Amino acid sequence: MHYNSTQDKSKAVLSAQAIAQGISQDGGLFVPESFPQISEGELKSMLLMSYRDRAKLIMAKYLTDFTAEEIADCVDSAYTVEKFGSDHPAPIATVTFNGAQLNLLELWHGPTCAFKDMALQILPHFLTKSLKKAGGGRDAVILVATSGDTGKAALEGFRDVDHTKIIVFYPQNGVSAMQKHQMTTQEGENVYVCAIRGNFDDAQTAVKKIFTDPATQEILAQHNMMFSSANSINWGRLLPQIVYYVSAYCDMVNMGRVAFGDKINITVPTGNFGNILAAYYAYEMGLPVKRFICASNSNNVLTDFIRTGVYNKNRDFYTTVSPSMDILVSSNLERLLYCLSGNNDAETKGYMDLLKTEGMYTVSAKIKDKLQSMFRGGYADEDATMRTIHDLYEQQGYLCDTHTAVAVSVCDAYIRETGDKTPVVIASTASPYKFSRAVLTALDAGKLPESEFDMVERLHDFTGAEVPAPLASLRGKKARFADVTDKEDMQGAVLGALGIDK
Ligand SMILES: *Cc1c(COP(=O)(O)O)cnc(C)c1O
Repeated sequence: MHYNSTQDKSKAVLSAQAIAQGISQDGGLFVPESFPQISEGELKSMLLMSYRDRAKLIMAKYLTDFTAEEIADCVDSAYTVEKFGSDHPAPIATVTFNGAQLNLLELWHGPTCAFKDMALQILPHFLTKSLKKAGGGRDAVILVATSGDTGKAALEGFRDVDHTKIIVFYPQNGVSAMQKHQMTTQEGENVYVCAIRGNFDDAQTAVKKIFTDPATQEILAQHNMMFSSANSINWGRLLPQIVYYVSAYCDMVNMGRVAFGDKINITVPTGNFGNILAAYYAYEMGLPVKRFICASNSNNVLTDFIRTGVYNKNRDFYTTVSPSMDILVSSNLERLLYCLSGNNDAETKGYMDLLKTEGMYTVSAKIKDKLQSMFRGGYADEDATMRTIHDLYEQQGYLCDTHTAVAVSVCDAYIRETGDKTPVVIASTASPYKFSRAVLTALDAGKLPESEFDMVERLHDFTGAEVPAPLASLRGKKARFADVTDKEDMQGAVLGALGIDK
């Protein structure tokens, strides 16, 4: 199995190189040259398998330059009972909402209580093996700029992983109290966390600059290190996400929610388009899916795109209660365009160039038709999101976070508009306790306490829902990292953290 660049398919690399490199040199994203198929017999055999065995079967189809032992080692190290609380890292909870049965695929049982753990717990294992194969045996230095969730999930994933170091920069005043506490208390010998005086964009821009600076790369090379990336366009983050959609289908069959071979709908709360793209890739592999419902918050650039075929990021940016979806450039959409254009690299590059120069592009009639045959787009504004948290709790005693609420709201509207009775799986992407303030407000739970931990406690007292251990144990934990740097000094901070004198 080779991987091509979406913007130049004459390039072909093996998975180890795609993972070690992160992004293609031409600026395109790595995509599998074709989709390996899951046969009916394989799907049937997966019904009886554990999550981990399902993962091994699917990943082996893509990581053909890895041995079966290597893949097993990655999977068994990542999805442990210790890290995910049970043998099944991605269970389904079924609720009835406004009369319709919804199956919530809970992807937040990992160490940082958001779905990004599903990929970031295994990426470090893929990466260290990839570096041995394609990185000349050098140690990897992971640089992350974060607006909150990704940084913590990456820190947890990479902590104490041999031959890696991870450095995370976050905007000093741009993350929630809980997110900051999660990061500054991070344990591990190979981690470093630093605040910057600036916003997320400043952190992101500076990280990209350091990452691509030849002089810094040279200094690292002299110390047998190289930069690598853990962001969501890395193939090593997408692949683990395909697994849980296939696994969810198997669980749906086992639970009697769908007859084997019949189709399901999948609803995903979407930001960078990674999670929903993984679901689409599962469909390309043969998973029986009728329709994808792409759910956005008020930053509804994707809703408009799916309805009109015009992607236009020239619009107001809203800060919402579902911050991980506050995004106007959905990077992974590029991979879908490549796919829907019939692997047309020149056409894909054309759209991406227009996005850069004009901030917008219009897809061909062919792409638009294909897109609309499989995808529906919808969005939930702040009111609809809060109402959904409230109503779902009132109707079913089920507590969902703000991102999941966006998806439930959009799915509910879709079902009411279309009368579509296809069984539906909704990706539930974070624990409600990560967003206690918004959830408490939605529930009308009285005057809010001041501290984040008191809010968590109040939410627990109010609903009785269990507080995830990783969040509960943060209370009283001492911060290990208090450094703050100017954005101009980030390169020095990186070298300092690596123990390199300039
Ligand atoms: C990152 C994130 C999303 C968006 O996922 P994408 O893959 O970027 O579309 C949704 N919900 C939560 C809680 C997230 O952390």
